[in-house]
Amino acid sequence: MKVLLLGGTGEARELAARLTDIEVVSSLAGRTRELQLPRGEVRVGGFGGTKGLTEWLRHNPVDAVVDATHPFAATMTEHAVEATRAVGVPLLVLRRPGWVAGPGDDWHWAESAEAAAELLPSLGSRVFLTIGRQGLETFATTGLWTLARCVDAPEPPPAWCTLLLDRGPYAVDAELGLLQQHAIDVLVTKDSGGPQTEAKLAAARQLAVPVVLIRRPPLPAGAEVVKTVADAIAWLRTR
Ligand code: NAP
Repeated sequence: MKVLLLGGTGEARELAARLTDIEVVSSLAGRTRELQLPRGEVRVGGFGGTKGLTEWLRHNPVDAVVDATHPFAATMTEHAVEATRAVGVPLLVLRRPGWVAGPGDDWHWAESAEAAAELLPSLGSRVFLTIGRQGLETFATTGLWTLARCVDAPEPPPAWCTLLLDRGPYAVDAELGLLQQHAIDVLVTKDSGGPQTEAKLAAARQLAVPVVLIRRPPLPAGAEVVKTVADAIAWLRTR
């Protein structure tokens, strides 16, 4: 059995590591400077839209495609749905669950980055922005002091905010220290879900800092979806 695994996430790396008896080709967008390579065969770079992915699947036949991309990588997922439909290959989407508010959380949901930016002035004046480097500019207009954390610096580096280059996983103590050091009074995040980056939410709860969460893009209709690596393995075993 051969599988194309659309990756770039911890779950995709875990899946590739656990599928020792299946031939897996992992695909990475390849935009971060230090790639975190999964076990096994890897291809790097965009396919060239739905058309490119369809062509790739025709030249590299696989028995299934697993889309384990980031929950906000909606374009890649849409292309995967269309291309697998065109070539008649089964597709599974592996999406970790989003975060759920608990007692003590002060969460504010936003439908988009633009809506999050509009909300901010009513919630605080010193912002911790943890949305990655794509879409940072949306927040330039708030006029609020902003600490923006991303894996790689945007090009050109933004002049309107303070950049912090770092990569998870993060620990609660370190996140608490960071929020206190910069006197952060509002946090912005995408609803990425998962344990790697959730420490900031616990730190915000402890310090009573409000959190603006950008809602995930919807999954394409009709896509078969599982939430865990174990469920993805079980799905592949039935093929
Ligand atoms: P996207 O907007 O869905 O993808 C844009 C293009 O990148 C795709 O059309 C595709 O190019 C290429 N691409 C994406 N994933 C690929 C893969 N696994 N293999 C080959 N090509 C791939 O996704 P994104 O740009 O990666 O990210 C969108 C949002 O998710 C951003 O807000 C970002 O901050 C967030 N995010 C993503 C990741 C991640 O691992 N991808 C991690 C953290 C955060 P072609 O059309 O040329 O095929």
